[in-house]
Amino acid sequence: MASWITHRVQATTIGNVEGTREQMAAVNELERDFTISAEKLREVAEAIKVEMMKGLEKDNQTVPMVPSFVPGRLTGKETGSFLALDLGGTNLRVCQVNLLGDGKFTLRQEKFTVSEPLRTGPAQKLFDYLAECVDTYLTNYSSEDPQMPHATKLGFTFSFAVNQTAINRGTLLYWTKGFNCSGMDGKDIVGMLQDALLRKNVSVEVVALVNDTVGTLIAQSYREPDTVLGVILGTGTNGAYYEKVSNIKKLSGGNYSPGELMAVNTEWGAFDMERHVLPVTPYDNKLDRKSVNPRSQTYEKMISGMYLGEIVRNAVLHLVDCNLLFEAHSSVDLNRLWSFDSSYMSTIEADATPDLAHTQHVLESILNVPKTTLTDRRIVKKIVELVGTRAARLAAAGLVAVVEHCDALEEGCSVGIDGSLFQHYPSFRERIVAALHELVGDNADRIKLIEAADGSGIGAAMIACLASVKK
Ligand code: ADP
Ligand code: MG
Repeated sequence: MASWITHRVQATTIGNVEGTREQMAAVNELERDFTISAEKLREVAEAIKVEMMKGLEKDNQTVPMVPSFVPGRLTGKETGSFLALDLGGTNLRVCQVNLLGDGKFTLRQEKFTVSEPLRTGPAQKLFDYLAECVDTYLTNYSSEDPQMPHATKLGFTFSFAVNQTAINRGTLLYWTKGFNCSGMDGKDIVGMLQDALLRKNVSVEVVALVNDTVGTLIAQSYREPDTVLGVILGTGTNGAYYEKVSNIKKLSGGNYSPGELMAVNTEWGAFDMERHVLPVTPYDNKLDRKSVNPRSQTYEKMISGMYLGEIVRNAVLHLVDCNLLFEAHSSVDLNRLWSFDSSYMSTIEADATPDLAHTQHVLESILNVPKTTLTDRRIVKKIVELVGTRAARLAAAGLVAVVEHCDALEEGCSVGIDGSLFQHYPSFRERIVAALHELVGDNADRIKLIEAADGSGIGAAMIACLASVKK
């Protein structure tokens, strides 16, 4: 009884969390670890700008700045039916876009999943599966769609770091987002998909190799001509923007007119793999060690859907280990790597029930933690908010870096954003906007954040159209 009284006397509150003094001290420490000041954000944005310049100048830089070789933009007058195969990291989609010639288009898509063995096995197996999905799509809709026989050109959205040398040619630089297939070294990615399609007798020509950010940029520009940047906030994070070809110093040769623009895929997820700038916590380090690509993608690992839940899991387990949560009990599920899906964070952030019933559901029914108190759940919610807020703020630094690099702040611009994290995570947009205000003051109002759902697939089909016209 006495200890209960002591316990109550020592109870303290931080925000909406109330717990013992030890619990509050631990939450305070997490808050310190995960909070990024306005000054730090500015430092991050400036450092990204510096890295972008380096990447434009030379190959093999931390932020690779990959030229897309996409010739210009669509006018809206184009017609025809084009295919895209969108390998995102979590989702695989076959898409068909019918361009109607009046600035409008229709979209049909079918979703497939990529199993864990395919993600980390021999590349040929992965590509055979990709070809099979295209085949399945064509078979499923050929009888009902008169456009189908004309849809023979495909844009391949391959959302990994690529050394692109032409619109339809490129080799893998490195895998990210949990993929690690063998047998890609030096091989042309378009050739690999084309060969797999031939093996299956699918008469589709792969005419473009597209990064999802570039697809998003092109698709969003079709709708909003003032679009300067396409962003992915999904399994991973990345950005692509229009750059003057004359500024892409490493691009030698080619027949470009003065002032011509080209979409550049920044691959900004790789930013700060040297860890000089980003305030990496022990919870990030733990994740990094267990990832298939340790010591790389530092920025991406602090921002995107594949990783956020795992950071939360690490912080939660730290408090369990310190006897500060769940009466020091974990569960087999909570102990398992990657078991805390980022979508649980959305559920927890959205939980407005007085007793945090949805949070309780995630912890006790999905992750099978034996028992949680309301204080436990409030602490977990607090951790989720800290990790989610840090991600949105860091993403804002990337946006500002590119918009300032493009000198687009005065005039204002649109930014197209694709990916489940941006679409579904409560407050992600609001937190980005708040950070934009800290970074650029009232000019933040001139940056329009537009949800560009499915932009990666739509854009790849549009790029297939551009590539076919050019031929
Ligand atoms: P891809 O990156 O393959 O194109 P998505 O854009 O759908 O696919 O992003 C998938 C990622 O988004 C996964 O890491 C998943 O955990 C995360 N995610 C999906 N739904 C949500 C959600 N409701 N809240 C937060 N993250 C989510
Ligand atoms: Mg995607």
